Amino acid sequence: MTGTLTIAGLGPGDAALVTPEVSAALADATDVLGYAPYVARVPAREGLRLHPSDNRQELQRAGEALKLAAEGRSVVIVSSGDPGVFAMAAAVFEALEAAPEMQDLTIRVLPGVTAMLAAAARAGAPLGHDFCAINLSDNLKPWELIEKRLRLATEADFAIAIYNPRSASRPEGFARALDVLKEAGCGDRAIIFAHAVTTPKERIETLRLADARPEMADMATLVIIGNSATRRVGRWVYAPRRAS
Ligand code: SAH
Repeated sequence: MTGTLTIAGLGPGDAALVTPEVSAALADATDVLGYAPYVARVPAREGLRLHPSDNRQELQRAGEALKLAAEGRSVVIVSSGDPGVFAMAAAVFEALEAAPEMQDLTIRVLPGVTAMLAAAARAGAPLGHDFCAINLSDNLKPWELIEKRLRLATEADFAIAIYNPRSASRPEGFARALDVLKEAGCGDRAIIFAHAVTTPKERIETLRLADARPEMADMATLVIIGNSATRRVGRWVYAPRRAS
């Protein structure tokens, strides 16, 4: 098989945060697949076929990408941020597991700057000590599991990065998540709402968790909750390097 499949992360938004490795892969591609707003970030050029698709069609998109690569094309699937963080890389390997005849294909995963790192950099260093990342979407996992992970993350005193906090189709989950965190005694912790980081619509807001309102988050927001030792210095938020 002469085709290749590259799974690439475009970073959080700013073109300056697309890695040179990803830019080179896009320059060599014959086909680019992905969720339409991400494909729209890829510079158009003659001979490049763009295949934008809907958000929920990940497995179908992964299967199509494998098929094009098996036909000999140079295929790039794009994700925002990093492709391995709540994104396309896992979907491609899921599709690959179901297609043994494709398993000799050349596949590469190219990392990108994931939203939590771009958001943390804006706020200071809230992920400077141990932390975890939780996807609040319950499309692919039961809500009970999300609550359990939130509770255990606070018990372990991790700082927590929350992806996909709130969408029009899931308005109540994030409100419930805030309640779980308050019930766990995290009301005094710092919470950071990082909206559309590295884009012209960027907005960063830090407050006490007890004062946070569910409407402060939407699908373009990455939420970071500090651990119990997290401190504020001026406009900065950081997790001390020593655990308390
Ligand atoms: N693979 C992506 C995450 C996809 S899940 C990554 O590594 O960043 C989509 C979620 O990522 C959004 O709901 C939001 O929580 C977060 N996100 C992506 N880009 C963002 C940005 N520029 N600013 C803030 N949050 C962002």
